[in-house]
Amino acid sequence: MAASKTPPWRLVVVRSHNPHLVSPRSSVHAYYADHFVLPLPSGHRFPMAKYARLRERLAVELPQVQMHEAMPASDGELALAHTPDYIAAVTAGTLSPAALREIGFPWSPAMAERARRSVGATLQACRTAMSGAGVSANLAGGTHHAYADKGGGFCVFNDAAVAARLMQAEHARVARSSGPLLVAIIDLDVHQGNGTARIFERDASVFTLSMHGAKNFPFRKESSDLDIDLPDGCGDAAYLEALEHALDELDRRFIPGLVIYLAGADPHEGDRLGRLKLSFDGLEARDRRVMDWAWQRRVPLAFAMAGGYGADMETTLQVQMHTYRTALEYDQRWQALVPCSSMAAAATGMGAPRWQNAAA
Ligand SMILES: [Zn+2]
Repeated sequence: MAASKTPPWRLVVVRSHNPHLVSPRSSVHAYYADHFVLPLPSGHRFPMAKYARLRERLAVELPQVQMHEAMPASDGELALAHTPDYIAAVTAGTLSPAALREIGFPWSPAMAERARRSVGATLQACRTAMSGAGVSANLAGGTHHAYADKGGGFCVFNDAAVAARLMQAEHARVARSSGPLLVAIIDLDVHQGNGTARIFERDASVFTLSMHGAKNFPFRKESSDLDIDLPDGCGDAAYLEALEHALDELDRRFIPGLVIYLAGADPHEGDRLGRLKLSFDGLEARDRRVMDWAWQRRVPLAFAMAGGYGADMETTLQVQMHTYRTALEYDQRWQALVPCSSMAAAATGMGAPRWQNAAA
């Protein structure tokens, strides 16, 4: 890939704050379900404890992040992206041993409940972002390997897919005349969002962008609307340049009214499964670029943590803490822009979030 004259990521790493955009009311609403503990056999490689650790660290270090218990997604909500048979099998614990092996978790009532709550957390984050907050979060989620009729790779239900469809349905009820809500799923987890790509394969109202390790899981990739394959060992500069190209292409092809961002921590150089070499600074610049892209277009953004398998769990948590710090900065801008609600802003014609706009 040709080097650009001015690396764009350097321009966005260091940003001076405009005091007129800073509001003391800054707070990012974030939804969690980590207290539904999924029992795993000892030695299981999934770092389940990271979710509770992230919540603890946020409470101490970033108390501006307001945390709420996630509600479970209902059968009807899940059915927006999943087949009734699959939802019923997860709920009743009747998945086949092969299906459970593909997911990577043993079934338990807590496993099913946690999966519903994780979807619920992204639903609530999207709703909050779209009701004027601008930026909101799921402390887990990003379960992008889940297909309509099966799970995989530690993913049971596809939170982003369910949330995209539900937000479209809710938008259609309140703003029918403005056309369908277009949703961009920006998936920067190091693994391809294969389930998401397949679910929206024939749906022009959701744009799926996935930047991932070419040689990493899943080994049989699906076709997203835009796939960026990265070589093993990819570092900050090449990654951030690829991101610029990806966002430029997204700009050319799609005008979203909502962004769902999978802020995976697994591209970090300290990740056991990532195979890329991004630094803390590189990942912070990545988060900032995505949040800035949405902010510049006044598009509400909900983010989920997606993967992170640091050889040292603290590494994953550090990446995620940076994501929240960046989110708080963009929340300040939204709060300054939207004093009461997006509807009030829309009424004045000033700074109306993009979701008010008609389909492109
Ligand atoms: Zn991942």
